Amino acid sequence: MSAAADFPIFATMVTDLLDSRSLAEQRAEELDRLLAEVEALHEPDSNGDCPTCLTEAPCVTFGLLHRDLTFERACVNVRDRTTVDLTAIEQPDRPVVPRLAALLATPNPAMDRAFAALIGKSVDPPND
Ligand SMILES: [Zn+2]
Repeated sequence: MSAAADFPIFATMVTDLLDSRSLAEQRAEELDRLLAEVEALHEPDSNGDCPTCLTEAPCVTFGLLHRDLTFERACVNVRDRTTVDLTAIEQPDRPVVPRLAALLATPNPAMDRAFAALIGKSVDPPND
């Protein structure tokens, strides 16, 4: 009788580990290709500017990819740059999202009753 027949659970474990390693290697290759593509997109042109970001050099994404910048440093670098309002460009008919302060300032009798019930206080029912 073979060892695999004596210990079928170990044979299954080894097979599963081999499958997992194969999947992990495939995933690593996919990520390597993706990283190379992103690096190519943000490769500086002859003026040192990024052809993808279209922002002033140096490209923050390129710096992050090459670990020249920390994430915090990248945030500081782009903080004062003018932003593009993609929602206004891509969805001009989209209704304005109300501000949180405006939503909270709107009277909400149901919420008042819920809080009153929570603290054990009775509230007059609405007059409608
Ligand atoms: Zn870039």
